[in-house]
Amino acid sequence: MYVASVTDEHRLTLDAMVDLHNALDDQPGADVRPLLTAAGFSRARDASAASMLRVAERFTSLAPFLTELPHLDADVAAARITEELTELPITPSIVDHDGAGPHIHWTPATARFDDQVLADIFMVLAQEICDNGTIRFGVCAADDCDHLFYDATRNRSKRFCADPRCASRTHTADHRKRKLAN
Ligand SMILES: [Zn+2]
Ligand SMILES: [Zn+2]
Repeated sequence: MYVASVTDEHRLTLDAMVDLHNALDDQPGADVRPLLTAAGFSRARDASAASMLRVAERFTSLAPFLTELPHLDADVAAARITEELTELPITPSIVDHDGAGPHIHWTPATARFDDQVLADIFMVLAQEICDNGTIRFGVCAADDCDHLFYDATRNRSKRFCADPRCASRTHTADHRKRKLAN
């Protein structure tokens, strides 16, 4: 996958991780292909249904870890991520395809698609933990939502997941509460 700047790619990859986790939490067995395609995984469009199922299964098994991520100490998260990285077929190479310009692929072209997705995400997550610990991960502040989010804002002001209804209904509820208090 490739996006114009490193910062954007970092954020997009972590958003993809969060979206996959939230989608499978909402709907176990959800079709992850549209999410992976939107996240810029170029192989997602043509990858087999079995590959999609494997991505979904692997994310489902990561769910307890990802749910806990915002609350974990950086060293605990780091140990778990290192454990995952050692299981992945990571062999970095510099490639240039589809006019994207030179960029790093973490897995060989022969790697299974689910291994590629997991490797891409865990390499970015590893960098995030080294740079920021777990502080940029949070849980949606809306009452009936426990979605995970990644907060890329400079002042870490994010409170809600990507579902626009969470922010709007919480603001409506706050407004109602204020009115009742007056
Ligand atoms: Zn590429
Ligand atoms: Zn939410």
